Amino acid sequence: MKKVTLLFVCYLSLLSHAQKRYIVVIHGGAGTLLKKDMPPELERQYKEKLKEALYKAYEKVQQGQTAIEAVEAAIVVMENSPLFNAGKGAVFTSEGRNELDASIMYGKDRTAGAVAGVTTIKNPIKAAVAVMQKSEHVILIGKGAEYFAKAQGLEIVNPKYFWTQHRWDALQKVKKAELKANQPNAVNQRYPAYYLTDKKFGTVGCVALDKDGNLAAGTSTGGMTNKKYGRVGDSPIIGAGTYADKNIGISGTGWGEFYIRTSAARTVSAKYEYQNKDVKTATQEVMSEIENMGGDGGIIALDKNGNMAMSFNTEGMYRGAITSNGEIEVEIYK
Ligand code: ASP
Repeated sequence: MKKVTLLFVCYLSLLSHAQKRYIVVIHGGAGTLLKKDMPPELERQYKEKLKEALYKAYEKVQQGQTAIEAVEAAIVVMENSPLFNAGKGAVFTSEGRNELDASIMYGKDRTAGAVAGVTTIKNPIKAAVAVMQKSEHVILIGKGAEYFAKAQGLEIVNPKYFWTQHRWDALQKVKKAELKANQPNAVNQRYPAYYLTDKKFGTVGCVALDKDGNLAAGTSTGGMTNKKYGRVGDSPIIGAGTYADKNIGISGTGWGEFYIRTSAARTVSAKYEYQNKDVKTATQEVMSEIENMGGDGGIIALDKNGNMAMSFNTEGMYRGAITSNGEIEVEIYK
């Protein structure tokens, strides 16, 4: 190809990239995701699920529904799949239970809802939406949240519904590593045993921008394998794992304690609002802050103009986005 033509093609592709307006962005967790360890069939399944989630949310936006409905629709797809650490595929606590957390925030009026430590609600994201729209509170936990969800007519399941072999095996692996690490002179015990094995954060999240220009962000998770003492991570904490305002929506996945300590999601929005940082810079800066403190994971963000960012400091992150023209992008590795 001649030099001039080549330059022209490059210019065109840059232009088309610059003009992309994203309306839905999702993640399905970050972590030690290496192509060499991923069977092609499993990779295909992940990509298909991410696409399905994106389409479901896209449809809602196209139909003129709000960003809340779009976020809920995408997250329900991922919660119902055993592939992700949310809903059906939730990880186990140290006691061998599945305790789920989820939250949602609507940028238009900054209403928010969340549930934490729930064991019988099939789709925790739906419960989070109900808390936001039908209660006077923001976060409900455990039995109270379950009572509320049932009263709202949401589907309640036997806790056994959340049992999966691969998550059970992951718990056994972490417990073994913990036993080893608890020998004298072993690893600093402030690090969870989880840290000693392959780290895979399968939390799911979505940010959507609706036809009225409003944003919503949501996150759903089973937390971290082997979590103890009723531990609650960042995912149901507004400002940590989830945040949305009139400018930007954010969802995170990773070692939750660091996201709480950095107020990760709200810090991204504050950088955008007060320091005029673009969505990519704001997101990357918060990711660096988390990394500098010793944490890891990823963050997705979408702004009111359809600019998005997907930043992570792990080997990979299940992620995807769809533009207003229905153009889909799905990625796993760096
Ligand atoms: N952030 C979640 C938590 O700490 C875990 C994850 O992202 O997979 O509970």
